[in-house]
Amino acid sequence: MTMIDLKNLTIKKAHDALVAKEFTAVELAQAYLSVIEEKNPELNAYLGVYDDVIEQAKKADERIARGDATTLTGIPIAIKDNMLIEGKIVSSASKILEKYVATYDATAIKKLKEAGVVFLGRVNMDEFAMGGSTENSAYGVTKNPHDTTRVSGGSSGGSAAAVASDMALAALGSDTGGSIRQPASFCGIVGLKPTYGSVSRHGLMAMASSLDVIGPMTKTVEDAEILYNTIKGRDSFDSTSVEGSLPKKEKYVIGVPRDFLKEGVDADVLENFNQSIEKLRNAGYEIRDISLPTLPYSLAVYYIIMPAEVSSNLSRFDGVKYGSLKEGKDLTEDYFFTRGEFFGKEARRRIMLGTYVLSTGYYDAYYGKAGKVRELIKQDFEKAFKEVDVVATPVSPMPAFKIGEKSSDPLQMYLADIFTVSANLATIPAISIPSGTVVHEDKSLPVGIQILGPRFSEDILFEIGKKFETIG
Ligand code: GLN
Repeated sequence: MTMIDLKNLTIKKAHDALVAKEFTAVELAQAYLSVIEEKNPELNAYLGVYDDVIEQAKKADERIARGDATTLTGIPIAIKDNMLIEGKIVSSASKILEKYVATYDATAIKKLKEAGVVFLGRVNMDEFAMGGSTENSAYGVTKNPHDTTRVSGGSSGGSAAAVASDMALAALGSDTGGSIRQPASFCGIVGLKPTYGSVSRHGLMAMASSLDVIGPMTKTVEDAEILYNTIKGRDSFDSTSVEGSLPKKEKYVIGVPRDFLKEGVDADVLENFNQSIEKLRNAGYEIRDISLPTLPYSLAVYYIIMPAEVSSNLSRFDGVKYGSLKEGKDLTEDYFFTRGEFFGKEARRRIMLGTYVLSTGYYDAYYGKAGKVRELIKQDFEKAFKEVDVVATPVSPMPAFKIGEKSSDPLQMYLADIFTVSANLATIPAISIPSGTVVHEDKSLPVGIQILGPRFSEDILFEIGKKFETIG
């Protein structure tokens, strides 16, 4: 069998090699399947590997032979367990959907199918994408390939770990408050949270509908660009989907919200960030300190709006319409037993918090207020983008933490989302790019830099990101 150098492979390189017949799509798929067999028992990134992988790869080979391959034909990809693929189990890493089989394809999946992608399997996540460590999965944590005593991040931890350990060439994740960017940074890969609405949510299991977006998790910025350009676009099945792109410019000004970086960031993470900023300055970008005065409120706002939407979205899981059922003596007891038994602790916590902030008497004080402050956060960014082209921050205040370190203290876990939630609240795109490593307890752990831009500035983020890859 051909030896394929998976470690240095990118989508772009694999495509060139497939077209040049250096290896076939079947050989490439087999190479990934054997790494999965070797590494997945320890890392637990895959919840299920599909039984038709080789069949899919054969079809890709036929297409390549016919000469009508796209850049993605034959590319083996892992899919977060909350995106529907017709005929496959999709569980959102929850017991409530343990045996649920999707009846249609998510729009992003349909587009990848049309491009000829090979779907390897479904990967682990926090239950219904609620968390930042995959510890909330009903099927066990996904370990970080760089240090297996640590988390891979979350909620798209399976996607990140799969790509970082050569168990997939790329993956799709979803991002409601950082779930693509934070695991990408914990595992040393690239993650893009696109502009809200630029990728259809049709067929993505809803967490918080005004914040959710699907995006690519890849080894390079170029690969993220290839995937994003394939899955984006207006879709009649998602009325919030939109199209747009901002023109590129000759020169870019990068804003740094210095005041916001003063507290709560690990010293070595901050030092790494400052070095990255210096590298960008040396590469010719103008760096300007900016202030985003409402940014400190973004966590509080997120943790009101998100659970409110979660409580409403998760009400459909009642044992009748979907998934698992635990029967009681009447319908009310059916609901209580089913939801009490099959939802994990974090899901139940957020449903209760969300129901509370939406209830009569508290709506105005919490949900209503949070909506107003969300608008101010949006405006803050709009103002900033009149002065600078993009904004840079760390992705996470710390590198991957130890398994179990934060799982007993949800508040500590929520605080780690400080740099990521604002992009979702403001509906703007943000990319996480590896920026080297910091050393914790003798282990070299990856960290990332986040670059945020105005709505539809993805092309600008890709351009700056590619530049950063050559200097970072
Ligand atoms: N960590 C955040 C949360 O727990 C983000 C989750 C996400 O983006 N899906 O809500």
